Amino acid sequence: MKVKLYNTLTRKEEDFTPLVGNEVRIYSCGPTVYSYAHIGNFRSYIFMDNLRRVLKYNGYSLKHVMNITDVGHLESDADEGEDKMEKAARKENKNPYEIAEFYTKAFFKDMDRLNIDRPEIIAKATDHIPEMLEYVKEIIKNGYAYETSKGIYFDISKLDKYPVLSNRNLDDQIAGARVEVDPEKRNPYDFALWIKAPENHIMKWESPWGLSYPGWHIECTAMGRKYLGEEFDIHTGGVDHIPTHHENEIAQAKGATGKIHAKIWMHGEFLLVDGGKMSKSLGNVYTISDLQEKGIEPLAYKLFCYSAHYRTKLNFTFDGALASQKALNRLREGYLKHLNGNEEIEEKNIEEYENKFLETINNDLNIPAAIGIIWDIVRSDKKSKQYAKLLEKFDEVLGLDIKNSEKYLNEQKNVDLPEDIKELVEQRKQARLEKNWALSDEIRNKLIEVGYQVEDSKDGMIVKKM
Ligand code: AMP
Ligand code: ZN
Repeated sequence: MKVKLYNTLTRKEEDFTPLVGNEVRIYSCGPTVYSYAHIGNFRSYIFMDNLRRVLKYNGYSLKHVMNITDVGHLESDADEGEDKMEKAARKENKNPYEIAEFYTKAFFKDMDRLNIDRPEIIAKATDHIPEMLEYVKEIIKNGYAYETSKGIYFDISKLDKYPVLSNRNLDDQIAGARVEVDPEKRNPYDFALWIKAPENHIMKWESPWGLSYPGWHIECTAMGRKYLGEEFDIHTGGVDHIPTHHENEIAQAKGATGKIHAKIWMHGEFLLVDGGKMSKSLGNVYTISDLQEKGIEPLAYKLFCYSAHYRTKLNFTFDGALASQKALNRLREGYLKHLNGNEEIEEKNIEEYENKFLETINNDLNIPAAIGIIWDIVRSDKKSKQYAKLLEKFDEVLGLDIKNSEKYLNEQKNVDLPEDIKELVEQRKQARLEKNWALSDEIRNKLIEVGYQVEDSKDGMIVKKM
């Protein structure tokens, strides 16, 4: 059965076949590491993870690159304002490399908590300056770029067509635009490939145009080519990338190689909060840790994201996410009941579920409908280990870590304990991690003294009032 994927470039669903053999080459636009990623960002990476897992489930092998943007992403995608990294560095009184390292670590910690598979290749922009410079030189050689006092700009009038991804009418947009167009640019939509660094810019490199740094769009085009070649299968990002970032990536690839570099372009829709945009001024930019503080596990947020198809907007509310937390626990309990059940299920019945599940996920990653199938199985009156196995198999795509259901449920039982007892439980967990059995026993005795019983199992520690 073919996987069908919606292609923003052709504006239709297409049957997917890799360009070469059985390997799917994917490039995903990754985070700009100037602050903590928010739950909207993670909706995009959950979509990326679904794509990976669906392709793997279909037997494909993957070569997937995700970039870490640690230089060159200006405040507005259209080359206006300051470099986001440098601005954050000044605000936090650190250098931009420290900022990048700190927020990259935080990003991957959240990715792990969300059980998002790590792409095979993580490419940091600042590690690929020579490849980017080379790419820009090719574009210049082919006559698609020019120099101004600010940097090297791509001349979109040299292209046969611009834009190709979005339907927007540039003339209408220019007429309605409020920003002043740089008079040195030949066309208002020309964009920076390489930016001449102001005196106080910390991240800068030698180039034929003096000390300077790459534009955001060239980073992805150059790193994609380095690892995946001039033509690869799939490029992903959020819908905000369509009109500028991905449009400009395509322009660059055409300028250097004459080809659009990716065959299928996929875009995840936005997460809204309380019906509107997330913004610092409204105080509604939430992180995965903010959700945890309110009793919403990262995996419950993942399940929450599964309530809408990746190409439709999803509105986040705490009530909705708390309902997903409850649903996740019900799913875990349902799985455990099947695991302990002894009924025989006809093989035909299992196959029907398998076929339906495959058809659903292969229909442009219809995860919300796949979750419907999961609930059908969970709610079945017949409790069977075969169903538990089936749920485990389907979880290869959903990534909800269903196999460890008992551990998660046990951990939650400890949540209602008084703060001082929770503290002792945490200390004992740490002692056990460090294999300090003497300290672990000492803390257990302390807990018993104050009236709490401790049970250790392979699925974690449960602490109950005696
Ligand atoms: P950035 O770190 O700003 O480059 O963004 C990282 C990713 O998050 C990009 O793929 C964006 O398209 C995506 N993104 C940003 N805001 C949202 C949102 N509210 N909902 C879904 N995805 C988002
Ligand atoms: Zn990108």
